[in-house]
Amino acid sequence: RNTAEKFEFQAEVSRLMDIIINSLYSNKDIFLRELISNASDALDKIRFLSLTDKEVLGEGDTAKTEILIKLDKEKRILSIRDRGIGMTKEDLIKNLGTIAKSGTSAFVEKMQTSGDLNLIGQFGVGFYSVYLVADYVEVISKNNEDKQYVWESKADGQFAISEDTWNEPLGRGTEIRLHLREEAGEYLEEAKLKDLVKKYSEFINFPIYLWATKEVEKEVPADDDESSDEEETKESSSEEDTEEEKEEEEAEKKPKTKTIKETTHEWELLNDVKAIWLRNPKEVTDEEYTKFYQSLAKDFSDEKPMSWSHFTAEGDVEFKAVLYIPPKAPQDLYESYYNSNKASIKLYVRRVFISDEFDELLPKYLSFLQGLVDSDTLPLNVSREMLQQHSSLKTIKKKLIRKALDMIRKIADEDPDENEGKDKKDVEKSGDDDEKKGQYTKFWNEFGKSIKLGIIEDAANRNRLAKLLRFESTKSGGKLTSLDQYISRMKSGQKDIFYITGTNKEQLEKSPFLERLSKKGYEVIFFTDPVDEYLMQYLMDYEDKKFQNVSKEGLKLGKDSKDKEVKENFKELTKWWKGTLASEKVDDVKISNRLADTPCVVVTSKFGWSANMERIMQAQTL
Ligand code: ADP
Ligand code: MG
Repeated sequence: RNTAEKFEFQAEVSRLMDIIINSLYSNKDIFLRELISNASDALDKIRFLSLTDKEVLGEGDTAKTEILIKLDKEKRILSIRDRGIGMTKEDLIKNLGTIAKSGTSAFVEKMQTSGDLNLIGQFGVGFYSVYLVADYVEVISKNNEDKQYVWESKADGQFAISEDTWNEPLGRGTEIRLHLREEAGEYLEEAKLKDLVKKYSEFINFPIYLWATKEVEKEVPADDDESSDEEETKESSSEEDTEEEKEEEEAEKKPKTKTIKETTHEWELLNDVKAIWLRNPKEVTDEEYTKFYQSLAKDFSDEKPMSWSHFTAEGDVEFKAVLYIPPKAPQDLYESYYNSNKASIKLYVRRVFISDEFDELLPKYLSFLQGLVDSDTLPLNVSREMLQQHSSLKTIKKKLIRKALDMIRKIADEDPDENEGKDKKDVEKSGDDDEKKGQYTKFWNEFGKSIKLGIIEDAANRNRLAKLLRFESTKSGGKLTSLDQYISRMKSGQKDIFYITGTNKEQLEKSPFLERLSKKGYEVIFFTDPVDEYLMQYLMDYEDKKFQNVSKEGLKLGKDSKDKEVKENFKELTKWWKGTLASEKVDDVKISNRLADTPCVVVTSKFGWSANMERIMQAQTL
């Protein structure tokens, strides 16, 4: 079109589109759920705005918060329309082409190695999946603040924008028209679309309608048009006839009509919009919870979530919530941990989506959880900022943490691997043992670091979190063990929990610090993660037992009768030694009973950094 303005796609976006167009990825279905998810987001936005300003919704059909799917078999067009917030001209330019999101290059990179296109939505570039099935796409959009525009692109490095003077006015919202590729004919089949919506978009909270073909049976006059005219006149003239006569006439008429099949269209509702979190947990199947997780987290990998917790909180602050532990930690979970907002809990107030960026709902260390909170207690007609400061959020947060930690503990309680040797009746049993076996180790491998960060960050729940700690020790036989298990194995008279820190277990096993302890049968915990050093600065004790780093001063093993005598004999040597090394090298030289075969060892003072910590700090400043 002459009036169209042309734009180049931002370079990364262009590369992304190339990858998608040339992809041999077989599961092209995913484009539909991405478009429906965008439509749903757009509807969430307008509904949120309407809380404080009813006018924004408009009138008549425009005010209906719905998603409409239509097919044009002849022209090979599939269109998805929403009555959401819509996009201004500026939005279209920015959102669909010129501003690359942070996820764009990450996704491009991923796709070049072993990426799964299925995860496109998680990277915030789901829209471009339309080019899996279409070679030409039009986006018609109308935002309250602007005129109606058309964005169009054949994915040839550029797109065009024109003011829309030829299509039907949308009122408000967006219509995406996909001109389907030759090989994408299956998406012109209604049955296929119905299937896909069932499969991927069942839990979208707005009605999704398909302009479906209906075969209707219709009674038509058996004869030609003339006779039908006759019939009509007959009917009208019969108005004053007696009842009896009327009946007679009806009977006479019957053979004059016949039934034919006629094809019409009507909007068919494809999803059940009852929110899953409002349902009774007993009536929700595992499969439904899994599907809901997938749409919530945009995680359509094959693995189901490790666990979930669906509950209602009552009292001063009422809310319903569903929390999930994802099957895997996202790669960047601990990247710029303290500087980024990784909140992933969606907040609803009375069924209306408010925000998924409230980091007030969960502490940072639990940001790996996915889920949703819907509260009736919070006010609806205030700004996000006001809501963010609402006192109820503190209560909600507290309860969410509690429930989250319970859910994690339950994985351990139900894992047969965790409970070897325990009395059967003490082990919480539910469901399939095989499925639960090894689950806690799996959890620990993915999210263990979060538990450690929690111990550092969350003083109120420190003990609860310490229960969830796992580690290897001199007696764990290569498996993970817990503090409770350590304590159950403590020797009589042992007061402290012994641990040692270092880069890896193999190196630590050879440490002279362990010699004597091992000989005497004491168990020593191996802490080999850099975060462990910080962790142990916060975790002072557990169940009234102090933690003792065996490479630090203050290690007390049982007294030996010869201690005094030995001390006396070597008095001169220690004196000489201390003098020779001078005070800037060591604080003191002491006789100790911590060693067995090694003659001497460098120990850290009680309040000093361990050698391992020194190494970590050095690595950080470099
Ligand atoms: P994401 O949905 O993760 O933001 P997408 O690539 O799916 O990423 O969409 C990019 C952006 O385009 C969206 O953030 C939104 O601003 C805009 N957008 C896409 N579809 C619609 C729509 N139907 N209505 C309004 N805006 C839309
Ligand atoms: Mg999207």
